[in-house]
This record gives sequence, structure tokens and C-alpha cells, in this order.
Amino acid sequence: MAHGWSEEQERGFAAAAEFARVEINPTLGARLENGTLPRELWRRCGEFGWFGQILPAEAGGVGNDVLTAVRAWQGLGYGCLDAGMLMALGTHAWCVTLPIFRFGNPQQRTRFLGPLVRGEAIGAIAISESEHGSDAREFTTRAPARGAGFVLHGTKTFVTNAPAADLFLVFATTRPGGGYFGASAFVVERGSAGVRVGPPLAKMGLKTSPMAEVAFDEVALGPEHCLGEPGAGQALMRAALEWERGCLLAPAVGVMERLLAATASHCVARRQFGRPIIEFEAVGHQLAEMKLRLERARLFLEDFARRKDAGAKADVEAAMAKLEISKSWNQCAATALHLHGAYGYCADLEFERTWRDAVASRIYSGTSEMQRNAIAESLLAEGRVRASRAHP
Ligand SMILES: Cc1cc2nc3c(=O)[nH]c(=O)nc-3n(C[C@H](O)[C@H](O)[C@H](O)COP(=O)(O)OP(=O)(O)OC[C@H]3O[C@@H](n4cnc5c(N)ncnc54)[C@H](O)[C@@H]3O)c2cc1C
Repeated sequence: MAHGWSEEQERGFAAAAEFARVEINPTLGARLENGTLPRELWRRCGEFGWFGQILPAEAGGVGNDVLTAVRAWQGLGYGCLDAGMLMALGTHAWCVTLPIFRFGNPQQRTRFLGPLVRGEAIGAIAISESEHGSDAREFTTRAPARGAGFVLHGTKTFVTNAPAADLFLVFATTRPGGGYFGASAFVVERGSAGVRVGPPLAKMGLKTSPMAEVAFDEVALGPEHCLGEPGAGQALMRAALEWERGCLLAPAVGVMERLLAATASHCVARRQFGRPIIEFEAVGHQLAEMKLRLERARLFLEDFARRKDAGAKADVEAAMAKLEISKSWNQCAATALHLHGAYGYCADLEFERTWRDAVASRIYSGTSEMQRNAIAESLLAEGRVRASRAHP
């Protein structure tokens, strides 16, 4: 399928895949054993530009357009055998660094952004709570005003990168009952008095992406910790989620491309009943489905990127991309495992791990049901507009 990538975008893809092979893959075994984020590797990722792909040079970024950036992230996924690391890097880049760049004032950018972009600090985003997962309209975590600042109290959970993080982007209620204007966003440093990170949570996959609960016990925050205006938390969260949903799974498209290449090669080489298994129609059709899913996922991803490059709002496109890529990644990973037979089920090959890693993509950053809700809500809104025009 012709995607019309420029030579620069193709070079970016290849360089990213090579970066993953040289810098990330060799130490995968150690990370799978200890589940930690190595600081030196993080710094190397910062040097390569992973945390500032679309940030301008004056903010320490690479200055790529969004399409070039997501093509590079696809390359990273294509080369990288560690989907946990992809999750950790993407969370830091899209969910923490980018919002601080977009909504931070000059002082906040000076203080927080540089270390995040350079890979000297690790960032985490803390939205979810035990009682508020999909429903993040109001938070149990509170941050009432105290003097010129705020005092943060509550517990967040399922926080990716938390065990290693230096900095948390935290969403909390500042005006109970204030609805859309009742929440604010805060940048909270790990060293602040009252911040306590729990032990890493054991999970099915993404073993190299550590996740934990984070408790805030009467953490005193100055006004300089509030990102955006007080009360703008929900708006900021929606804006951040648009980018997160649109871009976080870009590497998964590269992972699918690798899975397809490996599985097709296997099906050519593997012989049963006297011929390569790819010659059985039932097998060929499964490969054809993988190819369709890969291309569909890529089209949704790149549609989002092109819209953002055009300066357009793309929250619905982000929801569609997130939904489609996560579904396709799960299906491709399951098919890759299946077509490798018992070898695919064994831990020596990457397939059982990649399949376990893919499962979470239908949950984090809003479950598949929430993406469908977002798409349906936009259709409802459009339908109402059309109806009002038809019946003035
Ligand atoms: C690997 C991983 C990493 C994560 N990282 C982070 C992170 O860094 N920061 C963070 O804040 N959170 C993180 N999360 C949490 C994640 O955002 C939540 O798990 C997610 O929003 C769903 O919330 P929940 O788990 O409480 O499920 P619930 O909201 O309790 O949902 C349970 C089920 O009900 C369905 N459901 C709920 N409401 C509706 C509805 N209105 N219509 C239809 N179906 C509905 C859901 O789709 C789901 O199937 C992570 C989760 C995972 C698995």
C-alpha cells in the first residue's frame, strides 16, 4: 500500500528501528527479570529525541511534524522487542512531557520540561483512582486552596512509570461539585513531603513497564505546581488524552508490521503435509487478515497525525485510532502466536509475551468501550445539528 512517506520519514523509521535494536533490545532480559527502568537507557532515549519529537528546538525538541514523529515511533515499535519499554517511553513523552510543554508557563517549562525532554527525569500521569477509572469526571483526590497554593490529598492507582518517576502529572478536585470546572492539574515532584509510591503492581504483561499506586498525604503545593489555570483540569485532561489516544499506540503499528513479517516468513518455511503451511488457504487467509489489520491501523494513526499537522481538532480520530490499533494489535498478536503453533506458545519466542503485552492496550488510556462512547457521542452531536437544520 502506498503511504506517500518522504525519504526523511523513511530514514526516521529505519533509524528508530536501529536505535531499538542497538540500545533497547540487548538489555531486555535483565529488565524482564527486575522490572525497572534503567536511567542510562532513559537518557539515551532523551538524546535520540524520543521525548521531544514534535517539540520545537527552543524547547529541546526535534521539531518534527506529527506524521514524521508517528512514523519514527512506528520504526521504534518495528525494531523494539520490549513493548513495556515502548509503553513507558510513550507515557512519558505524550502524557507528561507534551502537556507540560503545551500548558506550562515559562517558569514551569524552565523547571520541569528540560529534564523530561533530555531524559534526565522520568514522568508519570496520575488520573485513575480505585473508585474512578473510566469515570474520571470527578476525583476523590482533593487539592483545596491553602493560601496562595494548594494541599493535595488522595491516592492514585495504576500509575505507569510510578516506581521510577521523578515527576507526576496529577489531576485532583479543587472545587467539589464544580463539575467540568471542579478539577485542576498539578505537577508534583517525587521528593515533595507526603508523596509515597507503593510497591510495583504485578500484572499480566508489560512487565518492563513498572506501575504502582501513588499516595499524596497533605502535600503542600505552591501556585507554580498548578498546570494551566485552577479549574482547567478537565479541559487539560481532555486535550492531553487526545494526543495520548492518537499517538501512544503508534509503536504498536510497527510491532504489528514485525509480527506479520516474522509470521509470513515462518509460514513459508514451515512445512506440514509435504508443503509450506502458507499454501493452505486457511493459513494464507489469516495472514491476509493480519495485513488488513496492520494497514487499517496505520491509516487511522496517520489520519490523526495529518489532522494534527493541519491544526485541526482530532479527538474523535484519536478515539478511532486508539480503538482500531488496540483491536488490531490484539488480533495480530494472537494470530502470530497461533500460526507459530506450539513454538509460538513457548516463551523462547516473542509471541506469547507480545500477546500478553497487547491485551492492556484495550484498557489503558480509556477502554475500547469508552472510545466507542466518544465516537457515538460525536455522532449524536452531529445528528442533533443536522436535525436542527432540517427542522428549524
Ligand atoms: C497497563 C495499564 C497502564 C495504565 N496506566 C495508567 C496511568 O499511567 N495513569 C492512570 O491514571 N491510569 C492508568 N491506567 C488505568 C486505566 O486508565 C484504567 O484502567 C481505565 O481507564 C479503566 O478504568 P478501570 O480499570 O477502573 O475500569 P472500569 O472503569 O471499572 O471499567 C470496567 C469495565 O466496565 C466498562 N465500562 C465502564 N464504564 C462504561 C461505560 N460508560 N460504557 C461501557 N462500558 C463501560 C469498561 O470498558 C471496562 O470493561 C493503566 C491501566 C493499565 C491496564
